[in-house]
Amino acid sequence: TNADAAGGTAESLRTPIVAVLGHVDHGKTTLLDKIRGSAVTDGEAGAITQHIGATAVPLETVSELAGSLVDPDDFDLPGLLFIDTPGHHSFSTLRSRGGALADIAILVVDVNDGFQPQTIEALDILRRTETPFVVAANKIDTVPGWNPQSDVPIQESYDAQSDRARATLDENLYELIGELSDHDFSADMYWRVQNFANNVGVVPTSAETGEGVPDVLTVLMGLSQRYLKDAMAIDVDGPGAGTVLEVKDQKGFGTAIDVVLYDGTVRSDDTIVVGASGDPIVTDVRALLQPRPLAEIRTESRFEQVDAVSAAAGLKIAAPELDSAMAGAPVRVVRDQPREEVVAAVEEELAAIGVTTQEEG
Ligand code: GDP
Repeated sequence: TNADAAGGTAESLRTPIVAVLGHVDHGKTTLLDKIRGSAVTDGEAGAITQHIGATAVPLETVSELAGSLVDPDDFDLPGLLFIDTPGHHSFSTLRSRGGALADIAILVVDVNDGFQPQTIEALDILRRTETPFVVAANKIDTVPGWNPQSDVPIQESYDAQSDRARATLDENLYELIGELSDHDFSADMYWRVQNFANNVGVVPTSAETGEGVPDVLTVLMGLSQRYLKDAMAIDVDGPGAGTVLEVKDQKGFGTAIDVVLYDGTVRSDDTIVVGASGDPIVTDVRALLQPRPLAEIRTESRFEQVDAVSAAAGLKIAAPELDSAMAGAPVRVVRDQPREEVVAAVEEELAAIGVTTQEEG
């Protein structure tokens, strides 16, 4: 490659992109809020970064939240990037090169309510996209007689429960494991799973009290490290590739696209190709925008302009001619390749998405 010729590749491991799926009201939003909230309060300020459409939780913060469960020395992936919009609709419309945009997922299931239609839909999508996932058996704090424990690993919480509460929870959990098995996913309590390639780990959680949340983060880190490491190795200096989350007007900049970048780097002087309702858009970046750190939010704009953004990240790209850009469409930077090739690649990806949309009815 060019980078080789220049004296060494800029290969590095990017952050895995995490999606949260599950039936409505089972606790997806609350779980995301909990992860963000505890990362803000537990970590030193600024440890987590708010991206456009996503939240980055660095490894040090995961390990702080997970306490004894995670030794940062065991991991070399930089952390986790959570997509802020939960639900399988966003999961299935957000794609990267025909696959799922998210590298890994949390399937949230209300432990009392069990499998519901959208749980089954989510499972089908996870199966089809071959996305590794962990099941958060949520709302354990609503088990009769539960003695809530704030933000602790699940084992610690178990130890604080009466035999009766524990037995009720176990009964619900085994029912859930049975339902997973009925849908051809062999599953078990996560601490019993030896091989996560063949078995889905179930983590009892409460998104409300935070118990079990350290375990969810631990399993996500572990799964990523074990099964995604090759996929996470990217040429950071390579041309950026991402997916459009949203197209909207950005005051002072005209139409802009919110993008999750999963490969390479986009720079403020790049030419980009964006999937659109008509022919792909070829345009020059006008500005790259990211949210300002919380401490600086008093200033005029919520966003600051940056010179470059590298994967994995969420960002806003302002450029002329973006009006016909489509949510879910690919974005590619034109750098070492002829622009016609990049346009063709974007067209191909769009065609692949079109086929999938029809299949899903
Ligand atoms: P979503 O539709 O999956 O995003 O579900 P939400 O996160 O909006 O949660 C639906 C309702 O369940 C809200 O009223 C939450 O406060 C509540 N909820 C979510 N997780 C828990 C939990 O672990 N325990 C309890 N007691 N309530 C929860």
